[in-house]
Amino acid sequence: MIDKDYITKLLKSTRKPQLDEVKKILDKAAKRIKLNHYEIAILLNVHDKEMIKEVFDIAGELKQEIYGDRVVIFAPLYISNYCVNNCKFCGYRRDNKFVRRKLTQEEIKQEAIDLEKLGHKRLALEVGESPKETPIEYVIESIKTIYDNSSIRRINVNIAATTVEEYKMLHEVGIGTYILFQETYDTEAYAREHPKSLKGDYDYHLHAFDRAVEAGIEDVGGGVLFGLANWRFEVMSLIIHNEYLEEKYGVGFHTISVPRLKKAEGMSLEDYPNMIDDEQFKRLVTVIRLAVPYIGIILSTRETKEMREELILHGVSQVSAGSKTDVGGYHEEHELTEHDQFELSDERSVIEVNKDLMEKGLIPSYCTACYRKGRVGDRFMQLAKDGTIGLICEPNAIMTLTEYIMDYGDQELIENGLKFVFEHAENIKNQTVKENLKNNIYRIIKGERDLFF
Ligand code: SAM
Repeated sequence: MIDKDYITKLLKSTRKPQLDEVKKILDKAAKRIKLNHYEIAILLNVHDKEMIKEVFDIAGELKQEIYGDRVVIFAPLYISNYCVNNCKFCGYRRDNKFVRRKLTQEEIKQEAIDLEKLGHKRLALEVGESPKETPIEYVIESIKTIYDNSSIRRINVNIAATTVEEYKMLHEVGIGTYILFQETYDTEAYAREHPKSLKGDYDYHLHAFDRAVEAGIEDVGGGVLFGLANWRFEVMSLIIHNEYLEEKYGVGFHTISVPRLKKAEGMSLEDYPNMIDDEQFKRLVTVIRLAVPYIGIILSTRETKEMREELILHGVSQVSAGSKTDVGGYHEEHELTEHDQFELSDERSVIEVNKDLMEKGLIPSYCTACYRKGRVGDRFMQLAKDGTIGLICEPNAIMTLTEYIMDYGDQELIENGLKFVFEHAENIKNQTVKENLKNNIYRIIKGERDLFF
C-alpha cells in the first residue's frame, strides 16, 4: 500500500512548483474537487508565502463550510501504563523503570465520574500494550464500567493493533472510533523506533484497520506521530492509506490525528532530526484539510492554546480538553511526573477551553448523536459529503452546549453562554429546525437532557 520509492520520487519531482500550477490546484481544492497525489505533493512543497497563505485561507473556508462553528470536545482516559513495547519516543516504554499501574474497575468508575463532572461525554480510551496485564477482556470490562456508571456516551478506543476476534469484541461492546496511529509510515524509521517488540511488526500494524473493518468496526481513525520521519512523506502516506481503505471498504478514515513528538521520560528531542517547526505543522494540517475535506482532524493538548485556536480556524474539527496523560490523573491530583506519557502544552481546564472557544464565536460540541443514530461509516460520510450532516450537527452541537452550560457552567458561563446559544440558534437558516431548536433549548434549561435530532 505504501510505496516508499513512489512517494519519494513524487515529492522530489514537485520540489519547485510553478505558481500558476499551484493556483490551479488551489482552485480545485476550493471547489472540493478531489486532488491527486501529484497535486497534494505540490501543496506540501509550496514555498511562496502568498501561496502558503492561500492554502491556509482555503483550508479555513472548507472547514467553515463543512463544520461551521462547531468544535468537538473530548478527553483521553489512560487506564494502564503497563507496556511490553519499547517505542523509543514513549514515556511508557518498557525500559523506563517505574512502578506500573493499571486501574481497577472501581477506579475506572471513579475516573469516568470525574470526567463526567468536567462535562465530558466523549472519551478516547488509552491503554499500553500488555497481553498479560491488560488483555482484551480487561479493556472490554473497562468500557462497560464507563458506559454503565457515567453519562459518557461515546468511547473511542486507542489500543494496540490486534486480531479480528478482539476487534469483534470491541465492536460488540459498542465503541466509537477505533484509533491507531501508524506512528511513522517510513519502514526504516518504524524499525528504529520500535525495537524488539510486539509493535515492531510494521505490516501487522499497517493492516490493523483491515482487521478492524473485517470485524465490523465502521469508524477507524489514523494518525502519524510527526517528528519521527519526513513530514511530507508522512502526509502523502496518510492520504494513500485513506484511499486504500476507501477503495477496499467504501469508506476511509473517520478521523486523522496529528500528534507532534513531545519530550518524554527516557528520550531526547535532539535525537529527532525530523522534528517539525510550527509553520510546517500548520501547513501539514491545512494540506490534509484540502486533500480530505470531510475527515475529522483531531488536535490534542500536546499543542499550545495559540496553535490549537489558530488551527481550529483552518482545519481542525476535534480537540481534547483538560487532559491528563497519567493513569488515574483525573481523580488524583498529580504534579507532572515521569509517569506521564509525554509533556502537555495546553493545561487549561475544560471550562477555560470552552469559554475561550465561545469568545471566538466557536461552539464547543458534546454531540454524539450520529453514532447513536447509526450514522457511522459510509452512511456518515455520505451525509457529510452531501451537506445534510451540517443541518443536523449545528443544532445538536448547540443543544449539547446548552446542557454543558446548565450542568457545569459557573455564573459567568451561564449568563454569557445562554446568550451565545440563542444567538447561534437565530443563525439557523431552516425555520422549522430553528423553532424546534429554540424550543429544545428551553426544555434543556428547564431540566430535560439528551435531546438531539
Ligand atoms: N498502546 C497503544 C498503541 O500502541 O497504539 C496506544 C497508544 S498511546 C497510549 C497513544 C499515542 O501517544 C501513541 O500512538 C503515540 O503516537 C503517542 N505518543 C507516545 N509518545 C509520545 C511522545 N513522546 N510525544 C507525543 N506523542 C506520543
